[in-house]
Amino acid sequence: MSGIDPTSQPTEQASSANNRSVIIQQAAQLFVGLNAVWSLRCALGIPFQGAPDAAKHIIVNVLSCGSFFGDRSKLTEIGLVAFSLHDLQDLVAIGPGYHAENILGRVHFYHYRLISNAHLGISKNVAGSPENNRFGNTRFVDEKQMRDLLQDSFCWPIDATRPELGYCPIVLLGHTLDVHLQLLQQSLNVDISNFGTIVATTDTRQIAREIGMRGPHPTGLGHLMNRFGIAHRNVGTAGNDAAYTAIVSILMALSPELYYNLHPLDPANTAIKTPQAVVDAIEAHSKTATKSSYGVARYCTKCGRTGHVRKYCKTMVQCKKCLAAGREKSSTTHVDSRCGFSP
Ligand SMILES: [Zn+2]
Ligand SMILES: [Zn+2]
Repeated sequence: MSGIDPTSQPTEQASSANNRSVIIQQAAQLFVGLNAVWSLRCALGIPFQGAPDAAKHIIVNVLSCGSFFGDRSKLTEIGLVAFSLHDLQDLVAIGPGYHAENILGRVHFYHYRLISNAHLGISKNVAGSPENNRFGNTRFVDEKQMRDLLQDSFCWPIDATRPELGYCPIVLLGHTLDVHLQLLQQSLNVDISNFGTIVATTDTRQIAREIGMRGPHPTGLGHLMNRFGIAHRNVGTAGNDAAYTAIVSILMALSPELYYNLHPLDPANTAIKTPQAVVDAIEAHSKTATKSSYGVARYCTKCGRTGHVRKYCKTMVQCKKCLAAGREKSSTTHVDSRCGFSP
């Protein structure tokens, strides 16, 4: 998994015009007129007649952002899943594997929580708590680090020793992507289209429509996961949502190769391995396969110190606002400055 860990990349300010290298312009041409399914198939290396050499440098970034349920303008976390055609080259010989397990094993899973809002929305009774991330390892970052890691993830050099080649072309994938991009813009003042490296944008809902998904909520993430028999575990948390978006999108886009026009859960497709078994293995693998050095691994949302997380905090704290409002039990879970309750 050597290709796209963004942690060691330069952080100088990227400008859109400078980043439109010849390779990016050629790659962008490739996607003109392609539908969502074929955009992802191209990014997965499915041979495409007339594809330029630039296509082999494509990276897919899957983005999901989380916000506080009490104030949707407050960004709390980002899930970022990435894979690179550089890392998939050898699959020409061995194939995608059962339920694309060979591809999914080369996918990188990142989860970043914004320190300034990390205390918000963490009740265990609330669906989507960022403490329930299942893929990769959560890192706590400040706003500058969040902006830097976004820039680095979207400005990945094709060859660090040959800067004249510029950055890899990016295919951006998401589920209800507009909402997430708007949140990034409002909360961090980051418009990732300004990096100049995105050559195609596609949404899981569009892929689902194009392959003819049917049902009461045919393009909902839960419905798509159901189709592949993948459990909805801790949906609503950005890291998991980005991971599930990537997984179901890859399975949908490669259905002709993976399932031969049978239902994914047809016994012919599950006799040796089920999609759930593959996802479980990928989840475990992601804990050791993806490394990030942005921010810190452990930050306590109770006392505000690094080196441990809330669950293991031994510091006695009390929020005066909650105490005065009669929320005695809640008052001992945070300090005044991290009170998530409205006045
Ligand atoms: Zn603590
Ligand atoms: Zn409080």
